[in-house]
Amino acid sequence: MKKVYLDYAATTPLDSEIKKAMLPYMDKEFGNASSLHSFGRMAKEAIEKARQQVAVFLNCRPDEIIFCGSATEADNLAILGAVKIAQKKGLKPHIITTAIEHSAVLEPFGQLEKEGVEVSYLSVGPEGIVRVGDIEKVLKPNTVLVSVMYANNEIGTIQPIAEIGTLLKKQSQKIIFHTDAVQAANYLGCDVQKLQVDLLTLSGHKIYGPKGAGVLFIRKGIAIEPMIYGGHQENGYRSGTENVAGVVGLGEAVGQIQKTKNEIQNIKRLRDELISNILQNISKTSLNGSREQRLPNNANISFAGAEGESILMALDQEGIAVSTGSACASGSLEPSHVLMALGLSPEKAHGSVRFTLGKYTTEQEIAYVLKVLPKVIERLRGISPVK
Ligand code: PLP
Repeated sequence: MKKVYLDYAATTPLDSEIKKAMLPYMDKEFGNASSLHSFGRMAKEAIEKARQQVAVFLNCRPDEIIFCGSATEADNLAILGAVKIAQKKGLKPHIITTAIEHSAVLEPFGQLEKEGVEVSYLSVGPEGIVRVGDIEKVLKPNTVLVSVMYANNEIGTIQPIAEIGTLLKKQSQKIIFHTDAVQAANYLGCDVQKLQVDLLTLSGHKIYGPKGAGVLFIRKGIAIEPMIYGGHQENGYRSGTENVAGVVGLGEAVGQIQKTKNEIQNIKRLRDELISNILQNISKTSLNGSREQRLPNNANISFAGAEGESILMALDQEGIAVSTGSACASGSLEPSHVLMALGLSPEKAHGSVRFTLGKYTTEQEIAYVLKVLPKVIERLRGISPVK
């Protein structure tokens, strides 16, 4: 059966060049980067090369890069670490985030809220974009942290990070600014000086690199409390023997992003073809989130009168892999918190499907999806109780 993968926001295949770069570190180069002998030094050198690769991409110093076990861990370290340090100084912190963040950000915020920390959740407009003026309105003298994702994982909308950075810099107190750039990294500039962020998160497996490898950029001079204590690896911010192969793969993946940039126009062209064809040829469909301010690989579409999960299963039977909202939240019967934040009805949110393309997506694959999809929707609408 033909197999078409349109779930690049959930994870990307491992690029063969990246895999090749990783393999020695799962074989002969097995040293512990903390060991002083030659095996250890080889591992340490490989990690430092990767740190340099990430630093070039982010336009920062290598010692501002911390390797973590995932982007979820990096997000948790950023948020919990910023709040814990403020509390240590005797402050009663106020923190701000948005209603459309990934659970890797929303859950630590929720946990802190349960512990008595004051939290503001910003709503978004119907286009799925945060208004900078809304942030200004909720700032307080005790605001210590703002966390806003660079691009949304469900609807691909791009947030005005540099403008928020400018606003926060103007404030009389120091407010730490964190952005989760996991979904943005393949497509948008991640220069931390231009974005004016203090903390930034990346994930290996969304950029054709390995799973279980993440990055937190921590600007020099910004203090956060570590979350894991032990052997003081990663500047004391993330103890634990480094996953050398994972770090090497992440470094290579970041280094290769420039190559993906050449493929963006093609990805966007195929994505646009997918969107306009669906909207024109399948009745009662609509695109969720801004058409312009969105990642070039994302199409999130509501199909009235059909259940997103049923569409996913039916397409899977035809060899096509898509998603309903974020992979981490799938299986939950709750409608997507992102689509609800856009103001969609629960029915419309339930009837939504996310198609995310990548560098291996072909014209033939999109043509196949456009052939199969109308029949699937027609059949499901015929049997769905929701019309
Ligand atoms: N942040 C965003 C925006 C994501 O899309 C994801 C993954 O879906 C994560 C964080 C979590 O990344 P990881 O799987 O590396 O923990």
